Amino acid sequence: MRTNGDGRIEDVAREIDRGDLNIAFTGAGVSTASGIPDFRSEGGLWDRYDPSVFRIGKFRSDPASFWETMLEVRRETFRTEPEPNPAHDALARLYDDDLLEAVVTQNVDGLHQEAGVPDNDVVELHGNVERVACESCGRRADADETIERAGDDLPPLCGSCGEAVKPDTVLFGERLPEGALYRARELAGNADVVLVAGSSLTVEPAASIPRIANGGGTTLVVVNFDPTPSSVSPDYEFNADVTDVLPAIVDEI
Ligand SMILES: [Zn+2]
Repeated sequence: MRTNGDGRIEDVAREIDRGDLNIAFTGAGVSTASGIPDFRSEGGLWDRYDPSVFRIGKFRSDPASFWETMLEVRRETFRTEPEPNPAHDALARLYDDDLLEAVVTQNVDGLHQEAGVPDNDVVELHGNVERVACESCGRRADADETIERAGDDLPPLCGSCGEAVKPDTVLFGERLPEGALYRARELAGNADVVLVAGSSLTVEPAASIPRIANGGGTTLVVVNFDPTPSSVSPDYEFNADVTDVLPAIVDEI
């Protein structure tokens, strides 16, 4: 495993063990290890679809055709039932051992919950594809059930008020959910250790969260294939596979 700087597994393990409040911040790199394509990478979703079809304006003006594309993408992206990988499992172990307060994630696949971190301690900055949301009455519901009930009759409708539902994910042109963003910032500002995994910290505004941490007395650990931009200076950086490094850190504790 190639590490750079002074990124040493045992030092990171000690920092986490010592920390009173540690959080993880995860990005696409944690999901790709479960076979979920990175939308932004070459050959990814945004190369094949015009991003404008995923705009909130598109949903509002033509929900039926929006959902047609959305269902095609769902079938393609989640062709096989994705499973948590060793990186998810390692974070869930830390959580179980009371060494992790919460997981802040840019991912929308719900795999942290599936690995065992409870829903209320997964801070979802971009929502979750397993849910749909009604803009009209605010109700959230299970995506599969709602889509199945709709059948060919698109768009799927809210079970309470009968309006068209949208995926409970952040579409282009939408703001990140205030509550999640607030909690993420607060956690980062108070954290002893922020463990960033699978994010190159380039997508704003979510990427600002580790930087908040970086400003105070927080230990910033980054595990990601690609080096972080020079605007961030992690205390430890591992440019390696998250499914190797995270289990190695947890094993060391
Ligand atoms: Zn509704």
